[in-house]
Amino acid sequence: MKYAILGDIHSNLEALTAVLEDVKALGVDKYVCVGDIVGYNSNPQECLQIVRSLDCETVRGNHDQYCSHDESLTGFHPLAADVVDWTRQQLSPEEKKYLRELPLVKQVEGFTVVHSTLDNPEMWGYVFDALDAEANFNYQVTSVCFYGHTHVPLAFEKAELVRGGLYEKIRIQVGRKYFINVGSVGQPRDGDPRAAYAIYDLAKNEIRLRRVPYDFRLTQRKVLSVGLPSRIAARLAVGR
Ligand code: ZN
Repeated sequence: MKYAILGDIHSNLEALTAVLEDVKALGVDKYVCVGDIVGYNSNPQECLQIVRSLDCETVRGNHDQYCSHDESLTGFHPLAADVVDWTRQQLSPEEKKYLRELPLVKQVEGFTVVHSTLDNPEMWGYVFDALDAEANFNYQVTSVCFYGHTHVPLAFEKAELVRGGLYEKIRIQVGRKYFINVGSVGQPRDGDPRAAYAIYDLAKNEIRLRRVPYDFRLTQRKVLSVGLPSRIAARLAVGR
């Protein structure tokens, strides 16, 4: 069984389409999404429709949550508030209900999926280092857990100690735990503008990170044409 693990798609239709083309060539059986289908870019409905059509195991991200409720946005960064407000106007009541009802944590065929971290997933904490990962591992009951939220593809391994860093390929070893960020399809933040996702090959016990170039200039033009903040368009070119 081979899974494509996607996350932080963030309404970027061009990146999602390019990733799915890449997936096609690899003989993937199933899809998993670590959340944040919507938010930031200009195609929330299209991206949501595609993810739902993939029969994808999905968890709720913080943007999925913000965009599917009508809670006040006071205290939000003004840039973020603009985007959430715009996205709320695009989504139908049924689409909001779907996003609202996504679980925060899901177990799929012996592995776990979460958007932020397993210790207090509703607090949307960011896992960037071994100390953050250690807290997560205390709540991780499966050998492998995939996460998103930081938009930076880092992998942490717990043997006697927890260590981590950037990765391209990981061999899963018995008796160890792995907390693996699959990077972001629609808004990478590791300095590489290419879309990121991971392939989990259960037969080989292997996880590989994939990077896929896409036409981010088209995404940028669409972001600007619907009146979303120009900073959201600009960051796509630099992957920040
Ligand atoms: Zn995100």
